[in-house]
Amino acid sequence: MTSYFFVALSKYPIPPLVYRSKEPLQIGSRVIVPVRNSKRVGYIVDRAHEPSFKTREIVEIIDKEPIINKNMLLLAREMSKKYASPIGEILDLSFPPSRLKGSKAKKKKDKYITLKASISDILKSRLGSRELELVELLLELNTIEYSAVLKKIPRSTIQSLIRKGFIEIVEFEGEMPPKKIVHMNENQKKIVEEILSDNRRTHLIHGVTGSGKTEVYFEIADKILSSGKRVLFLVPEISLTPQLLMRTKARFPQYKIGIYHSSLGSSRKREWDRAINGETDVLLGTRSAIWIPIKDLGLIVVDEEQDESYKQYAMRPYYNAVDVAQRRAEIEGAIFVLSSATPRVETYHYAHIGKIVLHEMLSRPFGKMPKIFVVDMRHRKGEILSNELVREMDKVARDGNQTFLFVPKKGFSTRVQCLDCGYTFSCPNCDVALTYHRNQRILKCHYCGHVETLPNKCPICGSKNVARGGVGTEKVELEVSKIFPGLRVKRIDREEINNVEALEKVLKEISQMKVDVVVGTKMITKGLDFPRVALVGMVDADHTLAMPDFRAAERTFQLISQMSGRAGRGVAGRVIIQSREPDNPALHSIVTGDSDDFYRSELERRKALGYPPFKELILLTSLGKTPKIAKERIEKVKMELEKGPFEILGPVESPIFKLMSVYRYQILLKCDDLTKSVEFLTKHLTQKTLGFDLINALKIDVQPYSTF
Ligand code: ADP
Ligand code: ZN
Ligand code: ZN
Repeated sequence: MTSYFFVALSKYPIPPLVYRSKEPLQIGSRVIVPVRNSKRVGYIVDRAHEPSFKTREIVEIIDKEPIINKNMLLLAREMSKKYASPIGEILDLSFPPSRLKGSKAKKKKDKYITLKASISDILKSRLGSRELELVELLLELNTIEYSAVLKKIPRSTIQSLIRKGFIEIVEFEGEMPPKKIVHMNENQKKIVEEILSDNRRTHLIHGVTGSGKTEVYFEIADKILSSGKRVLFLVPEISLTPQLLMRTKARFPQYKIGIYHSSLGSSRKREWDRAINGETDVLLGTRSAIWIPIKDLGLIVVDEEQDESYKQYAMRPYYNAVDVAQRRAEIEGAIFVLSSATPRVETYHYAHIGKIVLHEMLSRPFGKMPKIFVVDMRHRKGEILSNELVREMDKVARDGNQTFLFVPKKGFSTRVQCLDCGYTFSCPNCDVALTYHRNQRILKCHYCGHVETLPNKCPICGSKNVARGGVGTEKVELEVSKIFPGLRVKRIDREEINNVEALEKVLKEISQMKVDVVVGTKMITKGLDFPRVALVGMVDADHTLAMPDFRAAERTFQLISQMSGRAGRGVAGRVIIQSREPDNPALHSIVTGDSDDFYRSELERRKALGYPPFKELILLTSLGKTPKIAKERIEKVKMELEKGPFEILGPVESPIFKLMSVYRYQILLKCDDLTKSVEFLTKHLTQKTLGFDLINALKIDVQPYSTF
């Protein structure tokens, strides 16, 4: 008997097509079907009635048993609607990419120091000041490399603590430090219980960095694991560092820990296999891990829920893994926890009106919050590091501690300009200024990778009066070396550190105190715990404040708070923020330490201007080989949208008008009802109504992270 099925094509973003088959087939299986003159993989997503048009036959069945279970199919169906993306494209996300490059990880043997006795036992005895110093360090971090400790603490102190049975030296291959004993405090216990008893609502743990949030969700995970269920930890891209993996392994030595992110190379497929075969108990992964069909999922935790890497914005489909996770947890009946020191403004709002359950952790169990100062950089021409910052760096270095300097952009000079005619050297493919890289003596585009040599005269007026302005990481690195020739400086940005091994290496050097000053981009703001960072300097806080985007203030606030969280974990910390806008509310609330104040004023502003969470946004971007084509396209789109249930802003040129030789215009929709609005788009924006191919010429970003 012939039956008919809706087949969603893989890697071919169009709505499902109807095919016929003589064999019985199950929904959720993969098949091979003919498409025009080729054959493609597709997913059976539904049964169909015999259509009035002619159908083609399914050529081959890949899975006898459905590989996509009911829950994942339901999730995919909903997300396909929500993000106006064909369901096949969403289902593709549940599989690891097929073409993979190899990468090898080496295993080494290292000596570590770790606490042996419980904290209360240790505190009962009288300790010398050096002994106390080491115990505090170990309380802060689980384990510290022996060689790093030796740099700071005399051998005799270590020996004495070992004799008292308080600490021990352990040696192990790979990265498996022993379990640290943590006794939850009353607040932590309460939060753990409240969350364990409610798997129906979203929970937010809002607490400053170092307040013990990770310990709380580890404790919850422990309970879930012992009930036989599995756990998924979603983490931001850059913070998936060896540190977090080590800590998770240490906390759950009896369970199998999996890891899943895009730079895994050939082991990604293996990790995926393990996860879907039920061999992995705890999966630690970046945004794509949310789509892995793990069985018996009991808990999903999203760490640093505000992180923009959860939003896939550069590649179809444009989803936000936090929102997908929320829905997935609901479908699976899993507990769902968001964790952040600086939640998104939307999340904060929902937590405070009761849509999300709020759990606050206001203080650090050990260590103090750093003191924060703003240095007014107005009227200080040419000064990269203020006197105030230099003086503080000097003091920190003399105490044998470390300084982290945050610089928003990599490179040396972020702008090269002709002083006579004002021409700014910009990328021929993109509408952005080129960055000067001093070491290679080149100009480089950070969007498309275009490279050119630094010309000695202006291409417009021929003047030799060409100046390099704007401060990048390389320039700050050089400046630090000039002012402090004796200090060891390390630069951390995507230019210098471009793979996990390089990151691992430099993190190790920092923890072994082989580095005095770290100069870095956003890569250094997250998830890294180093006990001896006594000073954090924000070299240019104005950069993110000046972004033409509704999240500019929120981003600045989050960035500085995260950065401040790096300081004072083991030693008393200070934060110095250099800004030409010292009175900006985002900076103001950071200095006063009143984050509620920031959220309140930001929410008021968003309400007045009609931004999330009060209105939902959809960003439509048309693409064209010439400005004219791109403009005609966006105008057609606008015509189709006129009767839609939303407010239309634009069209305008996109903030980066030309990107990789493609011109872009955009329209922003402000919606009261997101579902209705997306439905309207899906219905009215088609190849038929618009007369051009949607997939390549129009980007529809539902709930864009930014409008930039
Ligand atoms: P967060 O996730 O909020 O940044 P962590 O959970 O990483 O905070 O906690 C910061 C440090 O304090 C960690 O070293 C952690 O092991 C330790 N810690 C947290 N809670 C306790 C506790 N109740 N007793 C002892 N140490 C704790
Ligand atoms: Zn010129
Ligand atoms: Zn470019």
